[in-house]
Amino acid sequence: MNPILVTGGAGFLGSHLCDRLLADGHAVVCLDSFLTGQEANIEAMHTHPRFALLRQDVAQPVAFPVHQIFNLACAASPPQYQRDPIHTTQTLVLGAMNVLELAQRHGARVLQASTSEVYGNPLVHPQHEGYWGHVNPIGPRACYDEGKRCAETLFFDYQRHRGVDVRVVRIFNTYGPRMRPDDGRVVSNFIVQALRGEPLTLYGDGLQTRSFCYVDDLIEGMVRMVRQDHEAGPVNLGNPGEFTIRELAEWVLRLTGSRSALAWRPLPADDPTQRRPDIAKAQSALDWTPQVSLEDGLKETIAYFRRVLR
Ligand code: NAD
Ligand code: UDP
Repeated sequence: MNPILVTGGAGFLGSHLCDRLLADGHAVVCLDSFLTGQEANIEAMHTHPRFALLRQDVAQPVAFPVHQIFNLACAASPPQYQRDPIHTTQTLVLGAMNVLELAQRHGARVLQASTSEVYGNPLVHPQHEGYWGHVNPIGPRACYDEGKRCAETLFFDYQRHRGVDVRVVRIFNTYGPRMRPDDGRVVSNFIVQALRGEPLTLYGDGLQTRSFCYVDDLIEGMVRMVRQDHEAGPVNLGNPGEFTIRELAEWVLRLTGSRSALAWRPLPADDPTQRRPDIAKAQSALDWTPQVSLEDGLKETIAYFRRVLR
């Protein structure tokens, strides 16, 4: 059997996915440019006989036999993907074309890690897959949001016109061990700040909401999406529990026992004010519901950061 390709496999989600696929008995090729990935995330896999690493940009063509593809390559943190926005768009659009061409050549099923950002700053709440979104096409987040939207377009055009077997999941804010301490997303920022005794940086009034999914739940949803034959997607994957960013800060302070203060910072442009997935489709098509509470997931993540920050 040809290997499964995981692009972005050295990143936070990608490395957990590689672990899971190896544990399920598959051969895995991890393609990563290490833009935001970490060697440490895949260190334990290097000696695995069914694991191979390809240091490459997904925007460059890929050519080797594959059985399945998971396309995760792209920085997910706003400060990271905004650092070189043109490269972010290249990653998302050229990367999608490259994995779709590869899938077509080898008759491989290909999954796109899309995002709740396709809904932009949503006018419909909670967000269901039929909602077309509310995205600023020229703002600082557009390289990511529109890049992901274009990738979805490519996926469904390759399905309709070239018969490629596609799967698309829209992932809502997911957190857990193996995020980088300097990643810049809210969960890792707050935990690192709390553990270092630094102020927790709240952007805006802290009343904007997000729904936080623990990584193990998310990986289970992705694997189920690829294993079933009836639903191409898009399917939302996320935890419907909704919290304000202020509430998240309070959870992190409580669970770390930190006495850090709160520091208020300006809200970044186009920052969505509310976000919660409607997961009815994932529940019916995949029989999937997240199992890990915010409290339990944060405890695991805090334990991880205590180890890496030591
Ligand atoms: P991450 O930044 O930890 O991982 C991204 C990985 O992609 C890194 O290893 C990075 O080096 C690699 N990469 C970036 N650009 C590349 C390129 N041009 N060529 C090759 N490799 C490249 O982020 P993550 O949280 O693990 O997210 C993984 C995927 O899931 C991303 O596509 C992201 O958009 C999507 N997603 C994640 C979340 C989330 O909350 N974690 C939410 C929605 C969507
Ligand atoms: N945020 C914050 N402090 C931080 C980092 C982020 O208040 O140190 C806010 C951010 O403005 C947003 C929310 O937390 O409203 C989630 O941000 P993140 O970058 O994690 O994800 P995204 O905005 O892409 O959902």
